Amino acid sequence: MEMKRIGLLGGMSWESSIEYERIINEEVRRRLGGTHSADLIIRSFDFAAIEALQSNGNWEAAGELLADAARDLEHCGADLLVLCTNTMHRVADEIREAIDIPLLHIADATALHIQRAGVATIGLLGTKYTMEAEFYAGRLAAHHGLDVRTPSESDRHEVHRIIYEELVRGVINDDSRLRYIEIVNDLVNDGAQGIIAGCTEIELLLGDDDVPVPYFPTTRLHATAAVDLALASEM
Ligand code: GLU
Repeated sequence: MEMKRIGLLGGMSWESSIEYERIINEEVRRRLGGTHSADLIIRSFDFAAIEALQSNGNWEAAGELLADAARDLEHCGADLLVLCTNTMHRVADEIREAIDIPLLHIADATALHIQRAGVATIGLLGTKYTMEAEFYAGRLAAHHGLDVRTPSESDRHEVHRIIYEELVRGVINDDSRLRYIEIVNDLVNDGAQGIIAGCTEIELLLGDDDVPVPYFPTTRLHATAAVDLALASEM
């Protein structure tokens, strides 16, 4: 079997990118056995530069930066691309336009599992950009027919703050886990039949056992979908 080369756009943050690398390699070993591991090219950004573009609302510059990097990975021989962050899928269209190889969208990889689980109403946790802008919830609704619920404004603020002040800095805090569990329970009471960890670091804080309904951790699902594509006979 011919394995395709996966290009990872990472460093957003590296705390989750290393999870992508680990999961992809483990999954390739599980499927191919022996000494097999994944064929990867990784471009890891300084997250401070990305965060500054986000907080200034400079999505155009962010899109150009990621599109340039995607082009570089294609020139280095990547057969498919994985953007290792939910938030930066806000500029997925700009990236797609720059390249001739597939970009595996994180929301599509996740939605496939949500639909398989028979879940129609889904709670979404992520950065404020992911929870509040149309590019993510809108895609889940328009492309996959899902009814998306997000936390209250003050809880969205808290979910976002914990991502930027703790998770992307490698801080895993029990009080923050308890706060997330409360917010998850509110979403479930509001009708959510499942929960998306729609930020690639959230699954470092919140495990399957912390969530009382089906849980959809985007890093795990996206990384596994990348392996599916890398080992598929056709793309
Ligand atoms: N990794 C996070 C996400 O999946 C947040 C960091 C970022 O803004 O890229 O959205």
